[in-house]
Amino acid sequence: MSDDELPALLGGRPVNPAGPPGWPLPDSGVLAALQAAYASGNWGAYHGENLPLLEEALRTTFQMPHVLTTASGTLAVEVALRAVGVSSGDEVIMGAYDYEPNFLTILAIGAKPVLVDCLPDSPVLNVDLITSAITSKTKAILASHLHGGLISMTALREAVNAKNIPIVEDAAQAAGAIIDGRPAGAWGDVGVISFGGSKLLSAGRGGAVFFKNDGHAQRAKVILSRGVQQWGILSELQAAVLIPQLMKLAECTARQHRNSALLFSLIADLPGLRPIGNFSAAISPGYYKLGFYLDEAAFGLSRDRFVAALRAEGMAFDIGFRPVHWGRSPSRYLKAGDLANADLAGRRVVMLHHPVLSGDEGGIRLVAEAIGKTHRFADRLA
Ligand SMILES: *Cc1c(COP(=O)(O)O)cnc(C)c1O
Repeated sequence: MSDDELPALLGGRPVNPAGPPGWPLPDSGVLAALQAAYASGNWGAYHGENLPLLEEALRTTFQMPHVLTTASGTLAVEVALRAVGVSSGDEVIMGAYDYEPNFLTILAIGAKPVLVDCLPDSPVLNVDLITSAITSKTKAILASHLHGGLISMTALREAVNAKNIPIVEDAAQAAGAIIDGRPAGAWGDVGVISFGGSKLLSAGRGGAVFFKNDGHAQRAKVILSRGVQQWGILSELQAAVLIPQLMKLAECTARQHRNSALLFSLIADLPGLRPIGNFSAAISPGYYKLGFYLDEAAFGLSRDRFVAALRAEGMAFDIGFRPVHWGRSPSRYLKAGDLANADLAGRRVVMLHHPVLSGDEGGIRLVAEAIGKTHRFADRLA
């Protein structure tokens, strides 16, 4: 065997010497929008045509009657929680495996996160556990779609409808996903997406928050206003670059689906690596990170070595989130039952960054080749 065939971590040639694709990808629509914003002077204006156009396009795409843009997805989550009435002393139910800032946002409001376990095969909150987590102090449920795993929103709605508890749906990792015929982000009373620099729809920073109900939208508008001045909303320039991206969201999502299906089929025979996601005709994920559960014993390699080996091959793999209760004082949260599945996700989840899913089939075949090579040499990499 020549050295070239060895894993890059052992001195062989990387499968993808150029490294993973950067983000954002080149986009002629974005370039044209930047040029137009310069020519019109909108790039430097408080008010222009782009923000109203973006808001209109967001309402249409996400099928929600009200939208506000925000300076970040994290601010969007905070505005969403405050708009549905969460304040000091209240409880907010969330999954124990979630984006850490969501947990910290609840604390920042002075409220208490109530953690529920996630599903055994997907890191999203287990809807069956919601009823047992509800108390007289519950003011909202924060439901995040993560790593291609989508929450069953019909079941969640059924679980809470009678109790009249608002759902804040965090679709920051799922822009473009469709759940039972509706976009992810349109199932909650309030929905949130992010335009952060690594997200599929990107303006470097930014977010949006959607509302079903006039009262919530009105309250959010007040939160984001100081008299005549609106603070914490998107700039004209950010809005300008997002419009062409939003127009292509469905096309991008379709390409992500083709590419992720190809990747799953190419690695289907490998032991110990299982993609996250509820794949059915009714549910089509949108990807920010494409998540997998790695069973170290079955694959024959520790998660850290797996990620290191794939990064050396030029693939943008990473370990998943730390469950929000790890390393944190139990005085900061309550938990409804044990969190064994969240702990498992915290140990097992690996994720592939999404840009490669927007490229061609060749890039996907390289990812599969790198994973296959890592598995073949697991003994020596361990
Ligand atoms: C990215 C992200 C957000 C928002 O992040 P910002 O960087 O503040 O826009 C919120 N929730 C989840 C699950 C995310 O992945």
